[in-house]
Amino acid sequence: MNDTPSYGFDTLQIHAGARPDPATGARQVPIYQTTAYVFRDAEHAAALFNLQEVGYIYSRLTNPTVAALQERIATLEGGVGAVCCSSGHAAQIMALFPLMQPGNNVVVSTRLYGGSITQFSQTIKRFGWSAKFVDFDDAAAVEAAVDDDTRAIFCETIANPGGVITDLDAISAVANKVGLPLIVDNTTATPYLCRPIEHGATLVVHSMTKYLTGNGTVTGGVVVDSGNFDWTASGKFPSMSDPEPAYHGLKFAETFGPLAFTFHGIAIGLRDLGMTLNPQAAHYTLMGIETLSLRMDRHIANTKQIASWLEGHENVAGVTYAGLDSSPYKELESRICPKGAGALFTVALRGGYDACVKFVDSLELFSHVANLGDTRSLVIHSASTTHRQLTTEQQVAAGASPEVVRISIGIEDADDLMRDLDRALKIAHG
Ligand SMILES: *Cc1c(COP(=O)(O)O)cnc(C)c1O
Repeated sequence: MNDTPSYGFDTLQIHAGARPDPATGARQVPIYQTTAYVFRDAEHAAALFNLQEVGYIYSRLTNPTVAALQERIATLEGGVGAVCCSSGHAAQIMALFPLMQPGNNVVVSTRLYGGSITQFSQTIKRFGWSAKFVDFDDAAAVEAAVDDDTRAIFCETIANPGGVITDLDAISAVANKVGLPLIVDNTTATPYLCRPIEHGATLVVHSMTKYLTGNGTVTGGVVVDSGNFDWTASGKFPSMSDPEPAYHGLKFAETFGPLAFTFHGIAIGLRDLGMTLNPQAAHYTLMGIETLSLRMDRHIANTKQIASWLEGHENVAGVTYAGLDSSPYKELESRICPKGAGALFTVALRGGYDACVKFVDSLELFSHVANLGDTRSLVIHSASTTHRQLTTEQQVAAGASPEVVRISIGIEDADDLMRDLDRALKIAHG
């Protein structure tokens, strides 16, 4: 299905990457639950190990079920290739790994998923990497933060938890100017609402755990490669441009051209870091993606209705949803996410921290969980959970202040959801 860009999104989300199984004719993509693959002969084995022939060696690197998913997501995002990983967080490390050396830094948005803030501010230091946090509403500040050791710029399309839209056109213009790759976490938008590569992104990462699988069953991630970045131009990416000692001196950029990052991700990233997606998970995600556009349309219709109703509620101090006319990000919605601003927002309660805790405890239909992008409606008080490790200052900058609750609207009946919210708001302020 690679040569059929004329098909629409709804067709591609079902057919891209999938073809009747060559061995059995099975119409749905089989779960290839196997660790290894028999080589035709010794020569075939050697060619595979030399990356002279593309094929299956061992499922830490490649697996046919996972490959079908990689092709589907690459197609939907408009990339040349993709590497699936065991989680969204794994995908973020896998995206940075080929680019970074000890001493290098990445310029990242202050508005990120709480776990990403911790991963970037703390954990990557163990690799000798660091992150510089900047307000991405200010493209000049992003540019000013870039120094000689910067190797990438990282942000989210629709930033979790506040539902704030990033001006990807402005940020990619900065990335182009300074000659660095832009990595965009497109988890909360999905390729149905936004294709960051069309706005200049070099790599797109996802937590497939969320909308792509869509029903809270799988932990998975993916890195999509635009194929658009010249890894040799600046001399800043030796693992891509120079002989790579971890693969007997192979020059990835020279050998694989636009697919250099994808091959590096599999041949070195998955091989040596081992953050591999299992075929069963890939199967669930393939099935989830078949209905992505239908779910997103419903998620958005529900969210628009509920966010504007909440905005007028007497116990609510404010709602951050870029789809509201009151949002300062409304203009960006029409340019970056014209089909809608997703289904994630925060609501600030007049009763502050205590009311938030009581509100979360009083909801019945909404589940109080550390997840988003499920068919079910979900809620979490970020300040006491996902953003708990952060300072109050970081919480505020991330859009997760103590008086706000994050809401992920599902695809249930909007009236039922509003009844549940209204009842819990009254209890919380009672
Ligand atoms: C959940 C999430 C992640 C992390 O993904 P996991 O699959 O939980 O590892 C990263 N970014 C965003 C925006 C997320 O929502």
